[in-house]
Amino acid sequence: GARLNEPALFARHLAPRRHNSHKGSFGDVAVIGGAKGMAGAPLMAARGALFTGAGRVFVAAIEPAGAVDFVQPEIMLRDAQEFDSGDATLVIGPGMGDSVTAMRVLFKALEGKAALVLDADALNLIADSPDLQGRLAQREASAIVTPHPLEAARLLGVTSAVVQGDRLAAARELASRLNAVVVLKGSGTVIANAAGSVVINPTGNAGLATAGSGDVLAGICGSLLAQGWQPWEAAIGAVWVHGAAADRLVAQGSGPIGLTAGELPLAARAVLNAL
Ligand code: AMP
Ligand code: MG
Repeated sequence: GARLNEPALFARHLAPRRHNSHKGSFGDVAVIGGAKGMAGAPLMAARGALFTGAGRVFVAAIEPAGAVDFVQPEIMLRDAQEFDSGDATLVIGPGMGDSVTAMRVLFKALEGKAALVLDADALNLIADSPDLQGRLAQREASAIVTPHPLEAARLLGVTSAVVQGDRLAAARELASRLNAVVVLKGSGTVIANAAGSVVINPTGNAGLATAGSGDVLAGICGSLLAQGWQPWEAAIGAVWVHGAAADRLVAQGSGPIGLTAGELPLAARAVLNAL
C-alpha cells in the first residue's frame, strides 16, 4: 500500500547546519537546459536549488543567453558544450530541447557517475531512445526522474489517460523499468522507487499549475541530493517542501490565482527553515 508523505519520512536529513560549515559542505548543482527561447526554465530550477541550500549552483545552457542572471547573480552561467560539471549533481532537461547538443550532454551525463535529476526534455529524449533507457536502468549512481503525466505516458508507451487511470501503478512500473526514483507529478504527486515503495504527497494546490513550477521542483530535488540526501528522501522531501511552499503562498494571499513559479523558491526556503 501507499503511505502519505510527511516530514517524518525525511526528518533524518534535517540536521541543523554546523557553525563551521562552508559552501563546499552543501554540494554543487549544475542545471543543464535552456535551448534558444527557453532560457528561463533552467534559471527557475537553479533558483529552486539555491534557495533550498545548495552550496554552489550553475546553469549550463545549450544556447547561452547571457553572462550573468541579473535577478540572481549567485547563479553561475556556463556553456553546456564546454562545461565540466566535476562531481556536481546534475539536473538535466528544463527547456533543453532536442538538439544534437542536448542529446550529447544527456548521453555524457548518463555515462558519468554524478547523481542525476532527469526532467522535461531529458525525459522525452529518453522516451524516444531504447538505448538511453537501457543506459539509465544500468547506471549505478542514483537518479530521480520527475515526469508529469504526459512525459510518464511517453516513457511507458501508453496514453496519459492510462497513466492517470492508475497513477500508483504507472509510477511503480516506471520506477522498476528505469531503476530510478520516480516522481509522477500532478495533484497528489506519487513518488515510487524500484524496490516498490510508494508515497502519495498531500501538500500543494492548483496554484502550481503554472509555467516553471515543475522546473523549481527539479531544482529542489537536485539541491537535496547535492546536500547528501539519499535519492528516495530527496525526492519525497523536495515534493513535500515544494507543495508546502505553494500552500504557504496561498495562505498569504499570493495564490492560487496568479501564483508564479518565481515565488516558490523563497517560500520553499521559509518552509525548510521552519521544519
Ligand atoms: P510541470 O508539469 O513540469 O510544469 O510541473 C508542474 C508542477 O506543479 C508539479 O510539481 C505538479 O505536481 C504541480 N501541480 C500541477 N498542478 C497541480 C495541482 N492541481 N495540484 C497540485 N499540484 C499541481
Ligand atoms: Mg515540466
